[in-house]
Amino acid sequence: MASPARRLGENAPGEFFVDDSCIDCDLCRGLAPEVVARDEGKGQSVVRRQPGTGEERARAAAALVSCPTASIGAAAPAGATAGAAGRGVARLALDTLPLEIAPDLYFCGFAARVSFGATAWLIRRPAGNVLVDSPRAAAPLIDRIEKLGGVRTLFLTHGDDVADHAQWRRRCGCERVLHRGDCDADTAGVERVLEGTAPLRLAEDLVAIPVPGHTRGSAALLWRDTYLFTGDHLAGNGEGRLEAWFDYCWCSWADQIRSMERLLDQEFTWVLPGHGRSYRASSAATMRMEVARVIAAMKRETVGVSG
Ligand code: SF4
Repeated sequence: MASPARRLGENAPGEFFVDDSCIDCDLCRGLAPEVVARDEGKGQSVVRRQPGTGEERARAAAALVSCPTASIGAAAPAGATAGAAGRGVARLALDTLPLEIAPDLYFCGFAARVSFGATAWLIRRPAGNVLVDSPRAAAPLIDRIEKLGGVRTLFLTHGDDVADHAQWRRRCGCERVLHRGDCDADTAGVERVLEGTAPLRLAEDLVAIPVPGHTRGSAALLWRDTYLFTGDHLAGNGEGRLEAWFDYCWCSWADQIRSMERLLDQEFTWVLPGHGRSYRASSAATMRMEVARVIAAMKRETVGVSG
């Protein structure tokens, strides 16, 4: 639980606050941007203003339970006990999560510290739901997802974001999918192992696209030729652009550029990453131009270094 005694002085006065255990993962700022912002001096999140609407308060509550380090707190209002206030905020968060951001597409919240607060996504589909990357296997989230139809497939974009995959498998009986390049002792038992770099159709509406580079076994998932789940391969920057991160490329920048070039063959208008912000283009052609811009920027970054 966030500690009032460790509340950062930069927080706006009032109910919600961030304490000094924040690891700057950015998840809360994407979820509740009106309420939470980055304090550049601290390199941590702070509450820049208290929620002003019911929607803002619901998102702040969702950020509170989603924070991977439990760094967000809610102070009890005058006359209320801390326990009762905490239960009220938790109830509000559970009424909010998973958060539907497009028809049948949900932001899960409940991020895991081991994946540095990576976002997991739920796709609801008649042929069986897909969980993209692993949120914390928190009982309230599992219950909510089971009410939405459970999880048939757990698609793991790369080895950094597998978190509680084994618990999801045990609880939901889902088939886990991971590229061989990122299988290790923890994930050696996954049910379906992707190979090579060629896209693989998993179902009529689902295509796995290996995108080695960030890690050796990174893979994206394309749903309905519209939504591309990218792990840490490609992300929005929150300022209307896509980007790839040279400083967080763990395997090969040259491979990541080649993987990005192969994405030009695909049709999609949304990018839904593990870290970073979601990004939406007005058309597949516009998205292609933006990806091409990222590729050019990546190649400039290569100058002077070997990928
Ligand atoms: S979600 Fe938690 S750890 Fe991540 S930036 Fe927000 S307060 Fe910090």
